[in-house]
Amino acid sequence: DHAERNRLIEAYELAGKLYRYILLSTKEGKPALEYLRSRGLTDKLIELYGIGYAPAGWDTLAKLLEKREFALPLMEQGGLISSRQDGTGYFDKFRDRIIFPISDWKGNIIAFAGRAMGEAQPKYLNSPESMLFHKSRTLYNLHHARPHIRKSQELVLFEGYMDVIKSWEAGVTNGVATMGTALTQEHAEAIRRLAERVIVAYDGDNAGQTAAYKSIPILENAGCQVRIALLPSGNDPDEYITKYGSERFVREVIGTAVPSIKYKLLHFRKNFKLQEDGEKLRYIGQALKLLAGLSSPIEREHYVRELSSEFHYSYEALQQNLNEIRLQSEKNE
Ligand code: ATP
Ligand code: MN
Ligand code: MN
Ligand code: MN
Repeated sequence: DHAERNRLIEAYELAGKLYRYILLSTKEGKPALEYLRSRGLTDKLIELYGIGYAPAGWDTLAKLLEKREFALPLMEQGGLISSRQDGTGYFDKFRDRIIFPISDWKGNIIAFAGRAMGEAQPKYLNSPESMLFHKSRTLYNLHHARPHIRKSQELVLFEGYMDVIKSWEAGVTNGVATMGTALTQEHAEAIRRLAERVIVAYDGDNAGQTAAYKSIPILENAGCQVRIALLPSGNDPDEYITKYGSERFVREVIGTAVPSIKYKLLHFRKNFKLQEDGEKLRYIGQALKLLAGLSSPIEREHYVRELSSEFHYSYEALQQNLNEIRLQSEKNE
């Protein structure tokens, strides 16, 4: 219902303000502020992203909400507080965590992501689904990035909140992230309504690369043109920027993102020992199968020529092989 939604948005706004105040203006927030600075966030960036700190006490927010006469059962439903087992009241959902507000595209806070500072688990705690917050639809940073996405007709998709924030600082202002969950068809459709071209810039570890691989058909089915940014293994965009700087990130990671077909070729070639003739032929067979699925003859030719020059087989022989694969698959349809 409309009144409840508005009231919950007001509560998130108030909570965001409280957490910002505690981070920036209290002694209790000092370690959190130090932590953020140690991760390379400037005061300007902390302010732009509305980052805050939820204190360790059990009911700082619950008390404030009560004082301001918010309906506490609604606040619980909205994921800001939880009721005590023994029925004696409410305690705060987020305690001793850095708070990243998650906004809708208009800029209303609809959820929080809370990051533990030490090794506390889970590393990130997100607000639960609510009447405001649907993980399968929400894209972090969309309210900031939207005009830049529209203008460039391109969107950069990251895995994590810190990746988005550090990339923004590096000049990549068209970046968004999912909520630590897999990319959905709904996300892809929302993305396609804003821009045709997407660069997937997930973490360089196995989990990130597998997720990038899986995102390709989801985005392509929605009509997006997909490129994948290659990060050195073990680095995510945030770490890369810290190690090598903004300029190099933009030029060598975002700037050299490869088309999805090329990424697939690179991705599965790791499974072959290409020094061995048999393996090499098997790889080429698989590669041609992939290329046979491309609808553009120019693209097919381009990659067949690449294979030809890399493996020293004639273009004609490879092309003939590819045509046979295409004929075969037409017959099977
Ligand atoms: P940081 O740089 O702060 O360590 P990260 O973004 O690099 O965080 P990853 O482990 O790469 O963290 O995870 C990517 C994203 O997945 C996070 O930004 C967060 O959205 C989500 N995530 C990670 N760990 C958890 C968790 N335990 N529970 C829920 N979401 C998580
Ligand atoms: Mn990761
Ligand atoms: Mn990461
Ligand atoms: Mn990281």
